[in-house]
Amino acid sequence: MKKKKEYCCFCGSRIDRSDIDGKIRDFCPSCRAVFYENPLPVASSIVVNENREILLVKRKKDPYKDMWCLPIGFAEADEEVKDAALRELEEEAGVKGEVLRIIDVDTVDNYFYGSLAIVTYEVKMIGGAVRPGDDAVEADFFPILEIPQLAWTSNEKAIRIYIDLNKDIWSMYDSFRRLFPEIKSLDEISLRAKGKRTFLSDVLVKLIDSDIESINGKLCAEISSAVPGLKSKMDIILDANKKVLRSIQYWLNRKSDTLGIEEFVTTGKEFRESGLPLPDIITVMALSRKSLWLHLVEGRIFTSPLEIYSTLEINNRIIFFYDKINYFITLGYSE
Ligand SMILES: [Zn+2]
Repeated sequence: MKKKKEYCCFCGSRIDRSDIDGKIRDFCPSCRAVFYENPLPVASSIVVNENREILLVKRKKDPYKDMWCLPIGFAEADEEVKDAALRELEEEAGVKGEVLRIIDVDTVDNYFYGSLAIVTYEVKMIGGAVRPGDDAVEADFFPILEIPQLAWTSNEKAIRIYIDLNKDIWSMYDSFRRLFPEIKSLDEISLRAKGKRTFLSDVLVKLIDSDIESINGKLCAEISSAVPGLKSKMDIILDANKKVLRSIQYWLNRKSDTLGIEEFVTTGKEFRESGLPLPDIITVMALSRKSLWLHLVEGRIFTSPLEIYSTLEINNRIIFFYDKINYFITLGYSE
């Protein structure tokens, strides 16, 4: 517990309390020395493992005995604050770490310790093994969104900031992982429960249904300017494009694995019967893909990496789809 000063360290007189500069401060009436209170530096560490679990320790002593908190402790006079964080991490949780960045600096008035400046770092575990020590009776990893109430509100604030800093990259990672499940080197990690995951670009897929006419209008304009010779075939092209747009939603929403894609064999046959040359069909399909993508990203405001990512993601998903239907169209054409 923080002790109150009783005697002046300059003249030895008894210290009084007085209003100085609008605040009640310790004051020596005989030598007029003012004793300003400065916050003590405290260092704490956020260590998160590959399962997005955060390392917490349970306190052995008061204040907040038996409550969980981040590994935390006072920095000493000859010690860098970040070194204090790493020292406390090893003493309390057995973990050797490396500081990555500062997450938060918070100043608090604590009833027990007085004024504190709590610096919280993101720390990467580089060695050691989790075991409680020093002022901790337990040390363990908790899912970062399911932590118990913590001893220090500053710890809770720093963890919220940490989550906020990372949530976009976690979402991108999960979505990317869904797009390329065959990439085994990426560990399956997620904030969300299994089976509940969605593509970030699903919100774009939803646009297709209501906008078929408008997307077709864009394709018509593209063809008119890029391949004017195809104007006489526009009706059959736009009909085929509607079919493409309808099945792409089913396909992207995984409503069925095979839904309708084989039907594009018929489309290929119809194209041949209408006298559309194969190179023109390839061009039409490329323009169809381009006009769809442009429509989906039109008017989007790219305010975050997440927006940019979902835009690139939808393009990738569309490419996969067009690769498949192009196969069936050329198959039908050459039958
Ligand atoms: Zn004095």
